[in-house]
Amino acid sequence: MPRKLKSPYLPFGDQQTAPWYGKDILSVKPFTRADLDYIFGVAHDMRIMVERIGTFDLLKGKILANLFYEPSTRTSSSFMAAMQRLGGAVIPISEVKYSSVAKGESLPDTVRTLACYVDVIVIRHPEVGSAALAAKYAGKPVINAGDGAGEHPTQALLDCFTIREEMGRLDNLHVTMLGDLKYGRTVHSLARLLTRFNGITLSYVSPESLRMPHEVMDEVAEKGLPQAEHTTLDKVLPATDVLYVTRVQRERFEDPLLYDKVRDAYIITPDVLAGAKKEMIVMHPLPRVTEISMACDEDPRAAYFRQMEYGLFVRMALLAMVLGKA
Ligand code: ASP
Repeated sequence: MPRKLKSPYLPFGDQQTAPWYGKDILSVKPFTRADLDYIFGVAHDMRIMVERIGTFDLLKGKILANLFYEPSTRTSSSFMAAMQRLGGAVIPISEVKYSSVAKGESLPDTVRTLACYVDVIVIRHPEVGSAALAAKYAGKPVINAGDGAGEHPTQALLDCFTIREEMGRLDNLHVTMLGDLKYGRTVHSLARLLTRFNGITLSYVSPESLRMPHEVMDEVAEKGLPQAEHTTLDKVLPATDVLYVTRVQRERFEDPLLYDKVRDAYIITPDVLAGAKKEMIVMHPLPRVTEISMACDEDPRAAYFRQMEYGLFVRMALLAMVLGKA
């Protein structure tokens, strides 16, 4: 029987009774309204701390492995910045082709390895369910940073935090999701998460071939939210409070011709915004390609760059929570 090593990295000083201590964040499904209020409260505190002092030592001595099997700019760098702003360290593995993955190592073995060295693992992977698989083997908290066309829970949390900070509320809103609702994982998570709030109406605008998946619509229907599908934006835009635009996910198309057919299905321009409410906000998980014209960027309703900044505070909150410091 092999000797079981006692970890030299015992979590001294962690609040092991903290509600999210040691938990994985794989999907938005487990989050209740009370959880969301708590996370947004912590994120708000993080914002104040970053604005006042920049970097502080809440996670000093903790290490994050940032394991990215798919391209990322915002998610990977904001998790790194979040850990470093909290005084922790990061092992970034973004170029998996330079790791043992290129030698054929399986995902379970890779996460088992990293779990020997770090306290928390953030993973992005092209397959649905990959984060859950990683969590099974890690023995350390795993945070899903996007599993193929599945979910992107931390994006949905930061999206809701953005709405709260920008609109001053998360209830009684008409949210319109536009673009690639089939492959866009952020809208799958966001639609689910919005069911926790009151008075939300959801409109989905997409080409016929990129409609919101049935399982997401069924979950929304079970919670009793009004939802409707459209192929054009003009009818729903005047009533919209939050316009959530998405990129057509080229990397998920098997047939490039099908991608070419829908790639420019919708383009938000200043002319389009002229037909929207003055207090509406435009969000986008980014990167944008052609779906929002750069001419919209100076419009005060364009919230997509501010949205990135809110992401830092939410990811700081989540790291602190799963590591027992919040
Ligand atoms: N950055 C987001 C994601 O990883 C959105 C996108 O790629 O279009 O899902």
